[in-house]
Amino acid sequence: MAEDLDKDAAPAPRPRGGFFAKIKRGLFMTHTEILEKLGTAVKQGLGFDESVLESLEEALLSADVGADTASALADAVRARTGGAERKDLPALRTILLEEIEKLIAAAPKPPARIETPLFVTFLVGVNGSGKTTTTAKLAAREKAAGRSVLLAAADTFRAGAIEQLQTWADRLSLPLVRHREGADPSAVLFDALSAAKARGVASLLVDTAGRLHTKKNLMEELAKMRRIAGREVPGAPHATLLVLDATTGINGLEQARRFVEAAGATGVVLTKLDGSARGGIVLAIYRELKLPVLFVGVGESVDDLVPFDPAEYARALLGDDASN
Ligand code: GDP
Repeated sequence: MAEDLDKDAAPAPRPRGGFFAKIKRGLFMTHTEILEKLGTAVKQGLGFDESVLESLEEALLSADVGADTASALADAVRARTGGAERKDLPALRTILLEEIEKLIAAAPKPPARIETPLFVTFLVGVNGSGKTTTTAKLAAREKAAGRSVLLAAADTFRAGAIEQLQTWADRLSLPLVRHREGADPSAVLFDALSAAKARGVASLLVDTAGRLHTKKNLMEELAKMRRIAGREVPGAPHATLLVLDATTGINGLEQARRFVEAAGATGVVLTKLDGSARGGIVLAIYRELKLPVLFVGVGESVDDLVPFDPAEYARALLGDDASN
């Protein structure tokens, strides 16, 4: 899985077709499904009654919004339509869109980038979520933005992770601090921080391990790494990005919560949205993890990382014309 790199990946981001173009394939099935279910219920002459709301909840569940978020959204729609006269699908869609926008607005906003000579970013998450690939994609963005970048291969536990990051580093012509496989991740971090300071690097990206011997140890290790970073560079890590695999769906959220608590995640990168027809997971991330989604991964190439736009997303989820 992990070693399967796209050999043709360009070192610098190619021109993009925009947010919708990249995610539309994944979201197309989601919004079609939601609107079809609702459309059928409305067409059946049921109007805006309880059975339509049940269809709504079912449609949200099948889009992987998660049980709690689906029922919260259905309740919010119910509260606004209860006792109302018969309404049509566009009206329901508008109310749902507004409720989704409210839900997104309730989560913390993406933190502004702190101005600091050395910006340290940790990438955390379970094995296979796409951390190493995302580290490379972010590095390419940082480089394209004119920043000097250093990579740290602190995932010393997953077989092949160091070589994988080395391959990306070579392709992007970026320096990498690495130790041997199985080495202490904190030692790699310490060396990377020292190297970054000594070389006057602007952006240090740290690929962390997704698994150690036990989950408890992993969280302790991440906490220790945070302390080391903060001791060596005031305020570091300045960003801790939780990498989540969209295809894992709602089941991945419980584990994700541990990373939020123990690793202090400040935002989410949702990967493999190209391979998932269940884009509803984004809503569960906002409502249940209370974290903003900052980027989405839409492929294995280095330029397949797209800044996330929640407003556009909400419209695409409900089949806005602009997404077609
Ligand atoms: P890690 O264990 O978290 O470091 O995960 P990797 O970075 O090795 O990614 C696991 C697999 O997912 C690799 O085969 C990647 O190429 C692939 N991958 C990562 N991000 C994406 C994405 O956004 N879309 C797709 N389709 N594949 C991805």
